[in-house]
Amino acid sequence: MEKLVVLGGGPGGYASALRASQLGCQVTLIEEKELGGVCLNEGCIPTKALIKVARFIEEIKKSKRLAIEIKDYRWDWNKIQIRKKQIVERLRQGLNALFKSRKINLIKGKGKIIKPNKIIINEEQEINYEKIILATGSRAFIPPLFNCSSPYLLTSREALALTELPEEISIIGAGVVGCEFAYLFSAMGVSVTLVELEDHILPGADKKCALLLEGFLRKMGIKLYLSTKITNLIPEEKGIQIKLENGKNWFSPLVLVAVGREPVVEAFDTLNLEKEGKVIKVNEYLQTSLEGVYAVGDITAGPQLAHKAIAQGKLVAENIIKGDKKSFLSTIIPSCVYTHPEYASIGKTEETLERENIKFKTITLPIQINGRALCEEEKEGFIKLIYSPYDKKILGVHMLSALATELISLVIPFIQAGATLDVVTSCIYPHPTMSELWGEIVDKALGQSIHSL
Ligand SMILES: Cc1cc2nc3c(=O)[nH]c(=O)nc-3n(C[C@H](O)[C@H](O)[C@H](O)COP(=O)(O)OP(=O)(O)OC[C@H]3O[C@@H](n4cnc5c(N)ncnc54)[C@H](O)[C@@H]3O)c2cc1C
Repeated sequence: MEKLVVLGGGPGGYASALRASQLGCQVTLIEEKELGGVCLNEGCIPTKALIKVARFIEEIKKSKRLAIEIKDYRWDWNKIQIRKKQIVERLRQGLNALFKSRKINLIKGKGKIIKPNKIIINEEQEINYEKIILATGSRAFIPPLFNCSSPYLLTSREALALTELPEEISIIGAGVVGCEFAYLFSAMGVSVTLVELEDHILPGADKKCALLLEGFLRKMGIKLYLSTKITNLIPEEKGIQIKLENGKNWFSPLVLVAVGREPVVEAFDTLNLEKEGKVIKVNEYLQTSLEGVYAVGDITAGPQLAHKAIAQGKLVAENIIKGDKKSFLSTIIPSCVYTHPEYASIGKTEETLERENIKFKTITLPIQINGRALCEEEKEGFIKLIYSPYDKKILGVHMLSALATELISLVIPFIQAGATLDVVTSCIYPHPTMSELWGEIVDKALGQSIHSL
């Protein structure tokens, strides 16, 4: 009988296995593909490896601003793909080495729970367990309406692995994944059409940030169709015909469907766990409706993000092994979009606070007031602070700027600790850095900004 089995080796699964073994537990982890899950193998890391190249190309295009003329440059898509694979491989090896040194029993195979406390791997090897952490993640969701069988219909997985860059692509869905691919392809010279059902991109994000990013994407040459409903995809010999509700249609040689991801839950159907819609219902300690069965990551409610999965994995391991009763409910999860400018956000948006009838105050600062941003030629965008007028606590911070995905981490400890604006302003931020914007916006909220009116 195994004490602890983890099903799925993505961020949620590997984090729980590593933390549990660090706490002295003998862990068995079952993974049918590669350690690292979607994040490492076909999500966060490969996209960012490619986006780095897109950013670099954009920098070259803007080099005149730095009084540098770059007349001739070219790129090699094949080598770009090789670099991407090498990064993934290196991180994979790192994870495998960690598993080895922590003596985690890694079983390669497809696990299926056949009854409570018993799992079978590849239909042959049976394991009895005391407790199990389910971390089977998610897959791209293709609505039945779009599910035409065509080699030109891609999900993010195939889009990342393209052996050559297309001349043209249509992307359905302008959420995080759709926007990142639109940015990536467009920067690399692909003609991109981005279609979104809502009236703005990044539904759920701060609306002002989303609207500004729309402008930047359009400026790159991306054709953006908002409030646009696709009713049908018709496969053709060399591509796909996209049909809209308004009767219009166009032909695209490639279509990327990026309308969301659905949890992978078939491996434990037999347990009949309670669900909330499609995801597995867990309590604040990440326990499912069945004793001894826990769930983390994309199969649970909340944002489908690797850092959420990792945080849940670590927490659930501590709850199981140390007997802690740590709650995941109060954890504040940042979210990031790696376009340029980048979008990063933590806490609530004005739209959510209005819906929840919570009083708030908002301050914004343009990035261009910052000296470092000007030196870096990164003056686009703004930072927005939302705070409580009663106790001066931070309710949300949303930014659209270069390096926003790094800068947002400045805010995390303050917001998680429930610090007031006075604590933020008592800190010294190094000069000249873009981090100073954080001190500056808080000073502005307190009526004591010296660099802005
Ligand atoms: C294109 C793209 C870009 C992304 N970029 C970011 C980003 O920048 N930042 C971010 O935070 N998030 C990003 N994400 C989301 C992130 O990848 C996921 O939130 C994260 O991987 C979820 O982790 P997980 O452990 O829940 O599941 P997964 O990573 O999906 O891992 C689940 C694992 O379980 C295995 N598995 C499933 N069923 C079985 C079974 N029956 N037996 C054995 N093994 C099984 C799978 O093979 C898989 O390895 C991105 C996603 C995509 C698609």
